[in-house]
Parts: sequence; structure tokens; C-alpha cells
Amino acid sequence: MSRKALIAANWKMNGSAALVKEMTNTLQSLAISAVDVLLCPPATLLTRFAPSSQFALGAQTLSHETSGAFTGELSAQLLSEAGARFVIVGHSERRSLNFETDGLVAAKLATAVAAGLTPLLCVGESLAERQQEKTQQVIARQLDAVYASQPELLAKSVIAYEPIWAIGTGESASPEQAQQTHAFIRAHLAQYDATAAAAVRILYGGSVNAENCAALFAQADIDGALVGGASLKPAEFAQICLAAT
Ligand code: PEP
Repeated sequence: MSRKALIAANWKMNGSAALVKEMTNTLQSLAISAVDVLLCPPATLLTRFAPSSQFALGAQTLSHETSGAFTGELSAQLLSEAGARFVIVGHSERRSLNFETDGLVAAKLATAVAAGLTPLLCVGESLAERQQEKTQQVIARQLDAVYASQPELLAKSVIAYEPIWAIGTGESASPEQAQQTHAFIRAHLAQYDATAAAAVRILYGGSVNAENCAALFAQADIDGALVGGASLKPAEFAQICLAAT
């Protein structure tokens, strides 16, 4: 099964109109087609991007509601009209800082798909859970919460394995650690839809940078990366994209 690599940037609450220009210029001059590139800036910057064939745009979260009295929220439709084609769902920062439960994550993912957005579902364990050898149990729970009752959504999803202990810490999972969990995720998803599980792109996220990305991308079940800190540096992000070609 050959899967096209996807390199996704999560700018979190960072970036600026100037970075939009700088990143656009860098990616336009790269002109890569062997890899899909996705930029997820803060929602207010989405409309600052001119349409490009070099990258797609995504949002970092969405409301599970479609419209109404939800002050401050953004619906899938609004994000789509602003240019998003993808949306990150269940990032560990949203799960912990915004108290997003497995159930809410499942509802958000369904809402995204219904509006034509491709959800990028984040799963991953904390350091304590890894030390207690609960990594697979936690990830199985996070996946089951979404796909057990709506297995048809798997074929429309991208998965990101992001060990919480590796996010923003400078301590990436080793390629072997990541591959082991990616293989587990793919095998676990096969119970819902074997064809979709073989085809789904599983990205690794957690302190990916220009130095460590090639060894990660060499693993059989790692189909790209979700990049935080290093995605704010256009030259380094470009190197990561090139390493996936
Ligand atoms: C992230 O937050 O999705 C992430 C992977 O961040 P970083 O690359 O900075 O660890």
C-alpha cells in the first residue's frame, strides 16, 4: 500500500500576516508535488493566504455545532468558507486545556466530515501513561470513541500519533517507538475497515525537526508529520517537506 506523505503545520496561537507571506513564498519556490503539504494557522489568518496548488489549508479546531448561539465558536462551514479543507480534531492541548472529552472529539470529527472537511484526529499518551505501559490502551480508547460507532468516517480521516511527552519538549519519540505505535494504530483500525486502515495516513507529531524527520519518515507506517514549533520556521519546515519526498 503506497500512501502519499502529508506534512502538516500546526501554528497553534502563533504566526502573523508576515509569516503567511514568508511561508507562501518558501513553499511556492519549493514546488513539490510528491508530498501533500497542509498549513493550519490560527483561523484569523486563513483568509490571508492566496489559493495555492502547493499547499492546503486547515483549521486547528471547530465547533461540533453547525450554527447558533455559541459565542466565539467557529463552525465547519465558516472554516470551509475561509479556505480550510482540513481541521485538526482532538489535539492534546484542546483535550487538556479546553477539557475536550473523547465524546466531544467524536462529535467534532463527524461534524467536520459532514461539512466536507478532512479531520486530522490526534491521539497519544501522557508520560505517566507510557511509564505505566498504558500507551496502547489509551490510544485504543481514543480511536474507539470515534470509530466504533461511526466506522465509515475512517476512510475520510487522517490520524496523527502525538505522544504528549514529545510535544514541544524537544524530545521526539524514537523512530522505533513511533513505528511500533503507528503499526498498533493501523492494526487496531483494521477491525473497523481493513481497506481504510491500510490506506489511512498516520502522521507522527512531537518535536519533529529537520534533523530527526528523515529517520521517522523511513518507518513503514509513518506517513508524514504534524509539526508544531518547527513549522514556524519556513526554511526548516521546507526541509521537513523535502525529506518526505
Ligand atoms: C503539535 O503541537 O502538534 C506538535 C507536534 O508540536 P511540536 O512539533 O512543537 O512538538
